Amino acid sequence: MKKVGQSPTERIKSLVGMVKATGLYPQNPIVNSATTEPVIWVDGRDHLLFCSNNLLGLSNHPEVKQAAAKALDRYGLGSGGSRQMAANIDVHRALERRIAEHVGQQDAICFAAGYMANVGVIPALMKVDLLQAIAETHLGQSVGAGPQAGTDPNWEVFSEELNHASVVDGVRLAKAVVTKFPHKDTGVLAKLLAASDKSSKFIVSDGVFSMDGDIAPIPELARLARKQGAMLMIDDAHGVGMLGDNGRGSLEHYSVPTSEVDLQMGTFTKAFGGIGGYVAGDRELIDFLRISARTYIFSAPLPPAIAAGVAEAIDVAEREPWRREKALENAFYFRREVEALGYDTLGSEAHIVPTLIGDELKAADVTRHLRHRGIVAPHARYPAVALGMARIRFVMTCQHEREQIDYLLKCLSELREKGAG
Ligand code: PMP
Repeated sequence: MKKVGQSPTERIKSLVGMVKATGLYPQNPIVNSATTEPVIWVDGRDHLLFCSNNLLGLSNHPEVKQAAAKALDRYGLGSGGSRQMAANIDVHRALERRIAEHVGQQDAICFAAGYMANVGVIPALMKVDLLQAIAETHLGQSVGAGPQAGTDPNWEVFSEELNHASVVDGVRLAKAVVTKFPHKDTGVLAKLLAASDKSSKFIVSDGVFSMDGDIAPIPELARLARKQGAMLMIDDAHGVGMLGDNGRGSLEHYSVPTSEVDLQMGTFTKAFGGIGGYVAGDRELIDFLRISARTYIFSAPLPPAIAAGVAEAIDVAEREPWRREKALENAFYFRREVEALGYDTLGSEAHIVPTLIGDELKAADVTRHLRHRGIVAPHARYPAVALGMARIRFVMTCQHEREQIDYLLKCLSELREKGAG
C-alpha cells in the first residue's frame, strides 16, 4: 500500500522487499557454462536445462562458430552506428537476403532483436500518411500546412489476445485504434473486421504462441485479411526454422503461400541459435520500413559477427532437417508422457510444452523442487500469463536425449504423487 510521504525511490525499494517476501522474486541461477547446451554447470554441479531456445543446437555448431569468428576477426566487435549512418555492412545485407530466401519473401529488414523488430515495424506502418506528406513536400507537390505527426485516424489494429509482449508494445506505440480479438477466435475477428469503418486495417498474430505452444489459424487469418483488404503480419519467432516440411515456419506448416501474408516477423534467437530479429515481405514494404521504423533508423544493428554466424546457421538448418525432426520428436514424446501423468499441456502442438500448475506459489515451488533434483526449468506466471494459470514452460531441443527427458518425467511424476505438481 502507498504510504504517505514516501518518495518514489522508497516506494520502489519497499515493493521489491514485498515481492521478495512472497517468495516469487525470480531466483534464476547463475550459470557457469554455455546456456545453449542441455547440460549446464550451476553451483559446482551439472544441471539439466529444459528452457533453452537453442532449438536446433546451432548456437554451438562448429561451422556457425567458425563463420562468426571469421567475421569477428574481419569486422571487430561492434558496428559503429546505425545502418543509415556508418554501419550498412555487407554481412547485414547478406543476412537479410538469406532470411528472405529461407522464408520465401522478396526481401527482409534486420534488427538487433526480435523485440526491436516488433516495436519498430508495427508503429512504422501507420506512418504512411506522414511519409507521403514529407515526400510530396520534397517533390514540391505539398499543399497546405505540410506534414503533421500524430494519430492516423484511418487505421485500426486487430491484435490477438495472446500475442507476445513485443507485439503488444509495438501495437501500443502505433497511432491507431486498437482492438484485441480472443485467442484463435476467427469468428469474432470476422465480426470485428466487418464492423470497422477504418480504411486501413492491420491484423497481427503470433504464429506459434510463446507461452501456450499452440499454432495460430493462419489459413483463416489470411482469408479474412484478403476478404477485408486488411494487412496481415505473423510473428513467427517460434515457427521459423521449426515448422513445415522445409522448416520455413508456420505458413509452410499450413501450406499457406507467403504471398498471402504481408509481413513475416521472426527472430534469430531460437531455431538459428543467435540473436536478432527480422521482418520479411514485398520489396517495397521492406524499403518503406527502412525509412520509417525508428528502431532501425535510431539504433545499431546486429554485431557483424552474429550476422555472419546466423547466415551460416540458416544454411545448416536447411542442410540438416534431422535437427528440427528430433526436437519435435522429443516434444511429442514428452507431451504424451507428461499428459499421461495427468498434467495439462494447454493444447500445445510443437516444441514448446507448457505444463500447467495453476497457482503462482505452487509453480514457484515446482521450479525449486526441480532445481533440487538438478533441473533448471523456470515457471511463467502472471503477468506473462493469466493469473492462476502459472506453468512450467518446457522447451525440447534436438540436443536432449531420451534418458534426460525420462529423468525429468520421473521427477514430475514424484511431484504429482506428493500433490506438489
Ligand atoms: N516474438 C515472440 C513470439 C517471442 O516469443 C519473442 C521472444 N521470446 C520475441 C518476439 C522477441 O524476440 P527476441 O528475443 O529476438 O527479442
